[in-house]
Amino acid sequence: MEMGQASFVLKILGQDHSCSAGVPAEAVRVQTMLPVFNAIANLVVDAHAASAAAAGRAISCRAGCGACCRQPVPITHSEARRIVELVESMPEKRRAAVRARFDSAMERLRESGLLAVMRGETDPNSEVSRNLAYRYFDLGIACPFLEDESCSIHEDRPLRCREYLVTSPAELCADVENQPVEVVPVFNRPSEALAAIGRGDQSLRPGFIALVQAFEWVKAHETPEESVEGPAILQNFLRALSGG
Ligand code: SF4
Repeated sequence: MEMGQASFVLKILGQDHSCSAGVPAEAVRVQTMLPVFNAIANLVVDAHAASAAAAGRAISCRAGCGACCRQPVPITHSEARRIVELVESMPEKRRAAVRARFDSAMERLRESGLLAVMRGETDPNSEVSRNLAYRYFDLGIACPFLEDESCSIHEDRPLRCREYLVTSPAELCADVENQPVEVVPVFNRPSEALAAIGRGDQSLRPGFIALVQAFEWVKAHETPEESVEGPAILQNFLRALSGG
């Protein structure tokens, strides 16, 4: 794949950050650009974490604490395709184990009635729709990639996982509904920027699905994403990130 070098300046919390990234010069699918978007997200999140620490609010997230990995993690359509690709590329035994966790999570959601809510099949104004995140968390369904309370796909984890940092004591995250969990607010979220551009099929509405729905969503949308030149995808992403 022919690569070029892109240079740009990101203004994050009032500070300029000079960046450069290897970008495919040819037409690619948005999911091919995820390593670049992940690196930008790391930069954005690190700047917010440093700002919180400077204000006396140090990040309390630690390896081995996977409480937040029981929330319904919103991922973009491009990330859903990447996740399916990632799992399919795993050695057979591991792939089977991860797929079984996806299936088991979906089955529990179906039994609980929440899957219908997540698919948009129920009244969006109902109590359960409005409290979906809490009802999901109550089920205690661990992310299929959570192993020994750590993320087993750390390098490839979705943008929203990167953006979620807390400064309150880690033990409070076990009860997000009733405890004063202090989440670091991230402005201009990379995940939102990707949701705005990450739809190869223009007939799809931009948006998110829950991580556990990745296989179901990809199966229902088998047409591959349209390919676009790498620099144009990056430009669109940066435009969306900066709010236009
Ligand atoms: S992908 Fe990793 S960080 Fe994100 S919810 Fe799953 S285990 Fe947690």
